Amino acid sequence: MTAILEARNLRAAYGERPVLFGIDLRLPERGIVAVLGANGAGKTTTLRALLAEIRTWGEVTFQGESVNGRSTQELVRMGMMMVPEGRGTFTDFTVEENLLLGAYSRKDKDGIGRDMDRMYEYFPVLGQRRKQRAGSMSGGEQQMLAIARALMARPKVLLLDEPSLGLAPLIVQEIFTILTTINREEGVSMLLVEQDAVRALKVASYAYLLETGRVALEGTAEQLAASDDVRRAYLGY
Ligand code: ATP
Repeated sequence: MTAILEARNLRAAYGERPVLFGIDLRLPERGIVAVLGANGAGKTTTLRALLAEIRTWGEVTFQGESVNGRSTQELVRMGMMMVPEGRGTFTDFTVEENLLLGAYSRKDKDGIGRDMDRMYEYFPVLGQRRKQRAGSMSGGEQQMLAIARALMARPKVLLLDEPSLGLAPLIVQEIFTILTTINREEGVSMLLVEQDAVRALKVASYAYLLETGRVALEGTAEQLAASDDVRRAYLGY
């Protein structure tokens, strides 16, 4: 399948300190790919590097076109959108206002209204709380809002940074089910950074395991789920 997003020999540094040491990864069009690894392995940095939020070297292509040298803003305009770890909703704004802010670069008023309704269908709890301040909602609801807000920009690729972080298992399951539905129905490709390897490998078709800024292992979700190394280190059995 054609790749919508691809990195070759991607390196990145914070100041003088190198953190990624040549990552090759590929996100197929309409695919879900997981990036796994322990704390500090470089998962978040990989997403930030793909979005040009930090100093990077190497080759990144988006929809087959080199995007080296493009700014984060340009990449967002082209269709890449990050849902950052820790959610990143505007806590003083209501659900509705957060969704409108997600669509700030769009001019198609009717389309925005339709997309808001669609978000309320995917996430009924947001529909019930349109006028509620984001900061007063539960962690799971805020995560849903962060995802919905990112989708309001109509991205082609969603970069998800640990959507399960700090949430109860049932909520995580609900969020992952909705993500799978959105992937299938809207065709949004997803690069999913997760520490929860069990869940990530259930929704992803392919996965990369990072260790200290390098790809230590990659393969189909089935291959990684069956790997003794992955099982021992990340799946706990
Ligand atoms: P976690 O699951 O804990 O978020 P991660 O796999 O996402 O881990 P990164 O956040 O990408 O890991 O961090 C990779 C390395 O880069 C770590 O050694 C971290 O200390 C370092 N690092 C991350 N952010 C910065 C920063 N803003 N400045 C300097 N070093 C950083």
